[in-house]
Amino acid sequence: MSGCENCSGSCGHNINNVGIERSLIIIKPDGLQARVAGKIISKFEDAGFTIENMKLTKIDEELASAHYKDHIKKDFFGPLLRYITSGPVIIMVISGEDTINRARNLMGPTDSRKAPKGTIRGDFGKDITINVIHGSDSTESAKREIGLFFSGPDQ
Ligand code: UDP
Ligand code: MG
Repeated sequence: MSGCENCSGSCGHNINNVGIERSLIIIKPDGLQARVAGKIISKFEDAGFTIENMKLTKIDEELASAHYKDHIKKDFFGPLLRYITSGPVIIMVISGEDTINRARNLMGPTDSRKAPKGTIRGDFGKDITINVIHGSDSTESAKREIGLFFSGPDQ
């Protein structure tokens, strides 16, 4: 939204969409392996998010490298690539108010061992790498990631 948050619609923007954001969510391979994908999806539904798109797929190395491009130089990139390409994932676009922040709060911190019980990583993650879920960290990242995973003729 650009500069019209408080105009109550007089500028012509859709007042029903104020504050609505999207996030790209990935239930990582360990989530499917452990058969907890349904429980994770329920947490998003119970929190009031709308599922706008969803698919079961496998991420290849090229797509994983594009998705995690900001981490390519990090020491954990190799293990991260092996992990995210190791099996099927569920990729979703969710929407709702303040989605980026609320989804990340629902997920818990990156290190599952530090994530409180009741958060997705606290309940289902293993450690700082095997942490069961991805969620976009900003509206800009969400836009980029949604374009990466949901574009092309078969989407
Ligand atoms: N990761 C890791 N070691 C680290 C930090 C991150 O293996 O020290 C992995 C982990 O799977 C994480 C992903 O890399 O989810 C992306 O890292 P980021 O810092 O973006 O964490 P997130 O946004 O997923 O919480
Ligand atoms: Mg991140």
